[in-house]
Amino acid sequence: MLKNCLTHPIYKIVGTVADEMGIQAFAVGGVVRDLLLGRHATDIDIVCVGSGIELATRVAHSIDPNKEVAVYKNFGTAMFHYRYNDTDWEIEFVGARKESYRSNSRKPIVENGTLADDQNRRDFTINAMAISLNADTYGQLTDPFGGIADLNNGIIRTPLDPDITFSDDPLRMMRAIRFASQLNFVIENGTFDAIAKNKERIRIVSKERIADELNKIVLSPKPSVGFKLLSRSGLLSIIFPEFEALKGVETVGTRAHKDNFLHTLEVADNISLHTNDLWLRWAALLHDIGKPATKRYDEKIGWTFHGHEVRGAKMVKSIFRNLKLPQNEKMRYVEKLVLLHLRPIILAESIVTDSAVRRLLFDAGDDIDDLMLLCEADITSKNQQKVERFRNNFKIVRQKLIDLEERDRIRNFQPPVSGEDIMKTFNLPPCKEIGVIKDAIKEAILEGTIPNEREAALQLMFSEAEKLGLKRTENE
Ligand code: ATP
Repeated sequence: MLKNCLTHPIYKIVGTVADEMGIQAFAVGGVVRDLLLGRHATDIDIVCVGSGIELATRVAHSIDPNKEVAVYKNFGTAMFHYRYNDTDWEIEFVGARKESYRSNSRKPIVENGTLADDQNRRDFTINAMAISLNADTYGQLTDPFGGIADLNNGIIRTPLDPDITFSDDPLRMMRAIRFASQLNFVIENGTFDAIAKNKERIRIVSKERIADELNKIVLSPKPSVGFKLLSRSGLLSIIFPEFEALKGVETVGTRAHKDNFLHTLEVADNISLHTNDLWLRWAALLHDIGKPATKRYDEKIGWTFHGHEVRGAKMVKSIFRNLKLPQNEKMRYVEKLVLLHLRPIILAESIVTDSAVRRLLFDAGDDIDDLMLLCEADITSKNQQKVERFRNNFKIVRQKLIDLEERDRIRNFQPPVSGEDIMKTFNLPPCKEIGVIKDAIKEAILEGTIPNEREAALQLMFSEAEKLGLKRTENE
């Protein structure tokens, strides 16, 4: 009996209305799993043996006669929002259904069915449980496939033959790996083997749906869990070959480079301890993506990856396009972090000069804190001495960033002398000289030869203009 789990008032209301209609109603699927795991959820799925749309309409009416219900006739579903505990809940209703599949589509043929039919069509044992909401059986669990045991043992398993389950709807392969990563569960052997066997079927799934699941993996507590499973099953080389290409270690004589796949996943896990920002996590996943393309072996120095940050930043656009991730400022943010990811490390390796820190601040702007997080996450050396040295240097860099920002305000640099100022003072049309003077002023501020102040910048403007042979206008 799970009455105590059903704290949300909607359950009682649905039960009462279903009783009035003389039909059975259940909380079903993911919400039951999350209730049992004590996981926070804001979606509640209700299944009834009858019309889901009618039940939804009546329940909504009993809460508030003016409540809006979104009805999706084609799918036989209906949904409304319900505010409770300062949270917006989505309550979705569907009639129990039976599904059968054809080979060329992940869209099933649907007919009305029983609760058991409805549970049979669900993807995993832990997602196939239902809790009764009718008064006489309120809180009773129906768990036909041992979902509770699998929840307790941390296992992802399909209720029916996994081969058929994944072939019918290959998105489920991504979902299996996503749940394993989100919940830190293990995929049962037979289920996993069926994913590997059906991997090619992923090609019939839309890229948007794949991206949704991939993003959930990226946002899971340890993204490495999901990415290792994607790779081991063979799905990764199909959906994201650039990431699979990071894998492997090459050796010449006694010299081997590190496995960039494992290193990248370590970095992604490290940063995930400090941020839930999807794009910063993507930046961590892509920071070394340019390494396979720039790998060289040099007799004197061994393995090198010169320019991998530039190559990597260039790859971000096409990776985002292929994965149907946004082509907007989020993508440009990832590009920027990939491009700059070595800069703080270079600072941390040498003596930290003010001008180097100022330049970093200028280039990173408001993303400086995220960049520092990325760089700290990037320290995965097993050499503790090296790690300590880097960490200490990063502390110095961070302190310098604070001091310099207070003094020089470089973070969102606005030139203290504008192009307009220069044009007016020297009576110039738009021309190359303006850029030359502006650059000289910017460089001098970043170098620290003049402070970031208007008076000093004007002085420099005059001396630079003189070098260029420019004359002040009469009325200046
Ligand atoms: P989350 O809320 O974390 O995204 P979820 O699986 O609980 O995950 P939905 O995607 O809304 O949320 O799915 C709700 C339920 O519907 C699932 O728990 C499962 O029972 C069923 N389901 C969803 N997608 C599929 C699918 N592709 N194949 C079979 N059953 C599915």
